[in-house]
Amino acid sequence: MAKVAVISDIHGNLPALEATLGAIRGERIAEVLCLGDVVGYGADPAACLERVWETCTVVVRGNHEEALLTPAAARSFNPVARFAIEWTRRTLGWDHLGMMKAMRNVFEGGDRLTLVHDSPVPTSGGGYLHDARSAAIAFRGFDSGICMVGHTHVPVAFVAPHRASGTGLDPVEVETVELSDGEEWEWARDRRAILNPGSVGQPRDGDPRASFGVLDLDRRTFALRRIEYDVDRAQADLRRAGLPTPLVDRLAIGA
Ligand code: ZN
Repeated sequence: MAKVAVISDIHGNLPALEATLGAIRGERIAEVLCLGDVVGYGADPAACLERVWETCTVVVRGNHEEALLTPAAARSFNPVARFAIEWTRRTLGWDHLGMMKAMRNVFEGGDRLTLVHDSPVPTSGGGYLHDARSAAIAFRGFDSGICMVGHTHVPVAFVAPHRASGTGLDPVEVETVELSDGEEWEWARDRRAILNPGSVGQPRDGDPRASFGVLDLDRRTFALRRIEYDVDRAQADLRRAGLPTPLVDRLAIGA
């Protein structure tokens, strides 16, 4: 598992997923790992689940999968997200529920890699790692050198010095790194990293292109990739499904 692709937050957007997997096939990559939220919001949850299930070696469960398995978990969702979850529930079959049940919440790949959808530390705020302050707390929640997270739909990297397990970090010790498309970023051997590859199916950083990451575990490098996909087709699919207009509009602006 030297060089892996990491995808997250596909959200039922099949054109974005197809373009992303096509780009991954063009690289020398051993495995594809998925950080969850394969469904929710988008018009093709069943096809996205099936495609991810056959392609990815690890899939961790996102909060949208959790909301489908445990309806009480959808209570914190806003009305648009809740509408989409109810629509998604009617679209999926028992086999899809089985896939979501089989997803684990956290994957720990030895001392090198941890995968989790939102945060390695359970928090009341929904586990959004947006800044050095929230990342400083999150670094206490895993022991490996790297933790991959999704959930915010915004690509970013945080790096911090090693600490004995359970020892706190000051937010000023956490460096926040903005990642740009195609640029390979390398971090020092004596640092640990939290890496977010952004969202395949609903980017929220102002760039509407699908986003994924390529992680080289041996060289400690991470590269962000942005992929053009057929946004018009994804929007037409949403309209045809009768899903709310804000979900259609945001795809064009990456918000
Ligand atoms: Zn998401």
